[in-house]
Amino acid sequence: MLTKAFGAQSPTSALAPMMIDRREPGPDDVAIDILYCGVCHSDLHTARGEWPGVKFPSVPGHEIVGRVTAVGGEVSRFAVGDLVGVGCMIDSCGHCPSCEEGHEQYCEGPHGFLQTYNGWLDGSGDNTYGGYSAAIIVAERFVLKIRHGEADLAGVAPLLCAGITTWSPLRHWNAGPGKKVGVVGIGGLGHMGVKLAHALGAHVVAFTTSPSKVQDARDLGADEVVISRDPQAMAGHARSFDFILNTVAATHDLDVFTTLLKRDGTMTLVGVPSEPHPSPSILNLIFGRRAIAGSVIGGIAETQEMLDFCAEHGITSDIEIIATRDIESAFSRMLKSDVKYRFVIDMATL
Ligand code: NAP
Ligand code: ZN
Repeated sequence: MLTKAFGAQSPTSALAPMMIDRREPGPDDVAIDILYCGVCHSDLHTARGEWPGVKFPSVPGHEIVGRVTAVGGEVSRFAVGDLVGVGCMIDSCGHCPSCEEGHEQYCEGPHGFLQTYNGWLDGSGDNTYGGYSAAIIVAERFVLKIRHGEADLAGVAPLLCAGITTWSPLRHWNAGPGKKVGVVGIGGLGHMGVKLAHALGAHVVAFTTSPSKVQDARDLGADEVVISRDPQAMAGHARSFDFILNTVAATHDLDVFTTLLKRDGTMTLVGVPSEPHPSPSILNLIFGRRAIAGSVIGGIAETQEMLDFCAEHGITSDIEIIATRDIESAFSRMLKSDVKYRFVIDMATL
């Protein structure tokens, strides 16, 4: 099916309208008209070819919400007209230990999980195309139910990546009552990290390089806000954190944060800068048995858990709605940390 999309022909070309070919829905497929798609920093890294192995043309977008327009004969959980979400994954092997335990994002099959965009389709060698498009066909197993009201739909889109990418590590490292949790970088991921850690009952400290975000971070649910470039303010939190979630998209000094961890504390990195961070101080880690860890998105079951938690607690992303033609200026603003706090494309503008 020829489908309207918005993508990049090369790492140096601006995103522009294009047509892509979507498969006809199979028996276990759900066909979705895309209503809104969030703009993740990963979209920018990909469209600009900042990560190795990016395939072009590239149609980014993995924070997708839309309405079901058709279902295959074997689909049982969705019906035409349902509001649904699709995140960063559209397939995985389904039978490795990680898939069997519901951690499809750590699929141990030969190709790992299939990315919603920039994924290499088995057999055909074709690229996958993401949510900056009018419609998408996804296997039922990777489609999420949306229980928020229709009016909240645009603000729900970013939960499909920014929400689950912060929820999964917060849950894994037990953010909750009695825990002091830091969130570094108040962008798309970070602002969701603050909201979710607060809703889970943790004492939340937001770290930002942007003085203009201090009041916002409090409004998002941070108990304290620290300008991470102020050494004195940082020193006041030495050895006090159970857990720090670092969402920064750029190369930076990790030591200023590991020194803030308690004994046995962990800092988990979710940001993926195009160049490596300088090596962290080993002394900082061994004197304190501190850990630096990583985490990628979250499994399908925990994505549904997060969406349901957010629906129950009235949580959505703070967004700025844009048209497809605004995407290049949105990318520029994202590079200046000037997003409050997620751009979401209204796909009616495609
Ligand atoms: P974003 O909206 O651009 O937010 C990143 C934030 O990092 C900025 O708003 C800024 O916050 C801070 N920052 C930027 N440059 C900095 C610098 N030089 N030093 C210190 N802080 C800086 O990006 P995002 O969409 O949240 O994505 C963040 C990263 O996570 C990206 O690399 C993305 O590819 C990655 N990601 C990973 C996963 C995963 O599964 N692991 C999933 C999605 C995205 P302040 O203004 O508050 O300092
Ligand atoms: Zn993302």
